[in-house]
Amino acid sequence: NEPKKQPEGLIVNNEQKKALNLDAKVVLLGDSGVGKSSIAMRYVNNTFSEAFEVTIGGGYLQQIVRLKDNSSLKLDIWDTGGQERFRALLQLYYRDANAALITYDVTNERSLESCEYWVNELRNTEENCILCLVGNKLDIPAPERKVDSKKAEAFAIKHGMIWFETSAKTGENINKLFEKVAQEIVKRKTEG
Ligand code: GDP
Ligand code: MG
Repeated sequence: NEPKKQPEGLIVNNEQKKALNLDAKVVLLGDSGVGKSSIAMRYVNNTFSEAFEVTIGGGYLQQIVRLKDNSSLKLDIWDTGGQERFRALLQLYYRDANAALITYDVTNERSLESCEYWVNELRNTEENCILCLVGNKLDIPAPERKVDSKKAEAFAIKHGMIWFETSAKTGENINKLFEKVAQEIVKRKTEG
């Protein structure tokens, strides 16, 4: 599971040293069926298939992210795997999370409304957690497409969240999403 060692003789500045070998916990939250497991699988299985270790079991995946500055970050991605129905259990999932991907389905208005619940939960229990609003199933065109992007964006801005629209099916924005989340995590860890 170790990230690749820096080549010998490479000068690593202090900032990069701090970022190397960092671990982070990322949780996937949102209504059942919005595509949480699909997002995790798309990301972990498609993008860095040679370069990381995948652990499947209990909805838990790992990915090592190599960042632009050559530092790396190990993401432990926790997929709620059906526990979204048992909200008390979920508190065990998001305990000490560095980031939460609060996910809705762009064809389902109610799934965006549910995000308010998750935002409040996380803000009340894990106040330092980075929150990201993720509108998934972007590949599905009108008229099935129900959630107005402007409305979702306004929701994200109001709650100080990162916002992405994704498709686990086509892969659109999946890498960008995790890259941005990884960058924010490293920023917080190295600044604080
Ligand atoms: P979860 O309950 O949030 O983990 O949702 P799943 O990942 O199990 O996905 C629920 C259903 O939505 C499955 O049938 C997926 O194939 C489908 N799905 C997930 N992501 C996408 C997507 O981006 N586009 C489309 N068209 N379908 C998706
Ligand atoms: Mg699932």
